[in-house]
Amino acid sequence: MVAAFRHMMALDTRPDLIITGGDLAMDIAENTFERSKLEWDMFTKVLRDEVSATVPIHHTLGNHDIFGRNKKKSKASGSEPYYGKRWFLDSFGYTSTYRSFDQGGWHFVILDSIDLLPDGDEYVCRLGAEQFAWLERDLAATTLPTVISSHAPIVSIGNFYDAPDDAWFKSMPDLRVAFKRMHTDCRELDALFRKHRHVKLCLNGHLHLLATATYNGLTYISEGAVSGDKWKGSKRQTPEGYGIIDLFDDGTFQHQYMTYGWKATK
Ligand SMILES: [Zn+2]
Repeated sequence: MVAAFRHMMALDTRPDLIITGGDLAMDIAENTFERSKLEWDMFTKVLRDEVSATVPIHHTLGNHDIFGRNKKKSKASGSEPYYGKRWFLDSFGYTSTYRSFDQGGWHFVILDSIDLLPDGDEYVCRLGAEQFAWLERDLAATTLPTVISSHAPIVSIGNFYDAPDDAWFKSMPDLRVAFKRMHTDCRELDALFRKHRHVKLCLNGHLHLLATATYNGLTYISEGAVSGDKWKGSKRQTPEGYGIIDLFDDGTFQHQYMTYGWKATK
């Protein structure tokens, strides 16, 4: 992470803002309080040490950023004040896991893809009624060209190359997309985006696979990950890296994927 942020800060054109795609510190969802605290502290220290205070950072919530999601492994009771998504919120001073802001003539929306099922470690990638209604209001309130960040892809063809490692799933002869891998509300979101043509670009993490799809004039970019395949090298053909996006005044954009020189030792 240090190498990635040093590389980013040394670019000829320094970024005007950074959006992280979630799964920030591995792994808050399946580790004890002590280990999770160590990882959150390391993550925030790296940001403080390596990223200029003048560059705003906006974090997207990932499924691995939710403390105690696996209650057994994390030894969580569920009554801790920092349980669930709370610790993520408190770490960055947020009041909601989804929010929006304007910068440089563009509108940015950060979504929460992780709809937790009651009392379990399972989740479905979708907004849920409350967040969906908020997004409807948010998009109706601006005409600025808009970028949306979600942890899970709203749409990604990467899913067809990287199915979950699950025997039942693999036994299926058809090419399914698991509900933990992509937004199950992608059709509702597409209908909403068609009403708001100022939405230009959707970005996601989660898959660690670089893949671009265009549908109904909207571009969906699934970014690679700073960790590649969780620090074990490339994930399939996507090396460790981050996306650089130039946003132009006319609502167009350019994207490039940047590796940063760090290599896994094995
Ligand atoms: Zn994830």
